[in-house]
Amino acid sequence: MRVVPLARRLHPLVIGLALGAVVLAVTACDDDSPASPSASPSGSQPGSDRTDPTGATTVGGDTASDEWPALLVRLVAHAEQYRWITTGEDLIEVWVCHVPDDTEAGIYAGLPLRLPLTAKEVTDMIRSSAPQYFEGISHGLYQPVFRVGGEVTMAAADQPRDCIAEAVNRAGVDAQGLFLVADAEHGSTQPGGFGDVGRECVFDTCAVSVTSRAAYIGASDFHPDWGDVKPMDLVQHEMGHLLGWGHSAVDGNDYLSALDVMSNSAAPRDVDPDRRDGPDTIALNRLFAGWLPDQAVWVAPATGGSIVLAPSTGESGTRVAVVSVSATELLTIELLTADGYNAHLPADGIAVHRVVVDDIDDDSPQVDPAFGEVPYDQLLQPDAEVTVGGWRIAVVRAEVAGSESRWTVLVTPAG
Ligand SMILES: [Zn+2]
Repeated sequence: MRVVPLARRLHPLVIGLALGAVVLAVTACDDDSPASPSASPSGSQPGSDRTDPTGATTVGGDTASDEWPALLVRLVAHAEQYRWITTGEDLIEVWVCHVPDDTEAGIYAGLPLRLPLTAKEVTDMIRSSAPQYFEGISHGLYQPVFRVGGEVTMAAADQPRDCIAEAVNRAGVDAQGLFLVADAEHGSTQPGGFGDVGRECVFDTCAVSVTSRAAYIGASDFHPDWGDVKPMDLVQHEMGHLLGWGHSAVDGNDYLSALDVMSNSAAPRDVDPDRRDGPDTIALNRLFAGWLPDQAVWVAPATGGSIVLAPSTGESGTRVAVVSVSATELLTIELLTADGYNAHLPADGIAVHRVVVDDIDDDSPQVDPAFGEVPYDQLLQPDAEVTVGGWRIAVVRAEVAGSESRWTVLVTPAG
């Protein structure tokens, strides 16, 4: 399991009033317990332009990476070790873990169901969704290819890790990663699965025998009660871990945010029961994966400025604004549109995330929405503003709708 610090909870924030508009009430998320990203049919534990209409300080031209906050430079540099998998084709073998009836592994909680899954069947199901999802959100930069791996018969004392270890030993030498599905469900209080990007690869490509790069989930999403089209959001979430991504807005076993497949991946289905894919992901993960060019990033000057943002899920324009709060914290500001994989969001709007590390050597930031409340689908609207981390972020103009949207955001020191 990728180790991501989970101890820090969201800070209660005060949202200021917006250019004469609405005051947003904000609470911390501690008391809410929405669905985790896994899902089960029972529902028990589911799994650039630089226009400046305001006259404020504006940065002209593209913001080069040498102007980025040191924290952003370091986090992106850390993520670059995974570019060999986050761009281009990524060959992943699909395996099934057969769990014995007398398993002693607590994750299965004594549940009796065993699905007659085969590696071929599971590969076909994953192929029906995950390649399209990732090629879509990466605009063709990342192309996972799924190949039938094999099946592992676990012993009574085996844990999921033991199934992964055997699959690693038996995998083809050209496989870059593994995706394993157990034929048994997980207990309702257990995680739906986990994924690990694995050990560093210092060559152009590395076999799983070198990296142990693998993701694993329980059987719940393959239950016949789901019908012919199974939920794929948990697969997509664990695939995100295989790309080196961490969580956002996760508190213990609670996955809180509807804005990111790496948080509550089941959020779209909470709105539309027919949805099977997860949400899109946030700009930070795109940056880590190498899916956003440097010129798509705008860094707020110390004195503030304004920027016209294009949707972070789009293919052109400035797609993320970054604000340096301290040596260990920055803000990302992005425009999310309520379409595509984010069609479950109530409206287009501006998302702000706090990106915080425990110390300046920590490569696994805690990432949380900077305002709103569970299910964190609220986005900053035109003529509204938020104050977070000593910065005031105001939406001063919203033009066009959907994927062609261009929203102007003013970022100024609040002090
Ligand atoms: Zn996860």
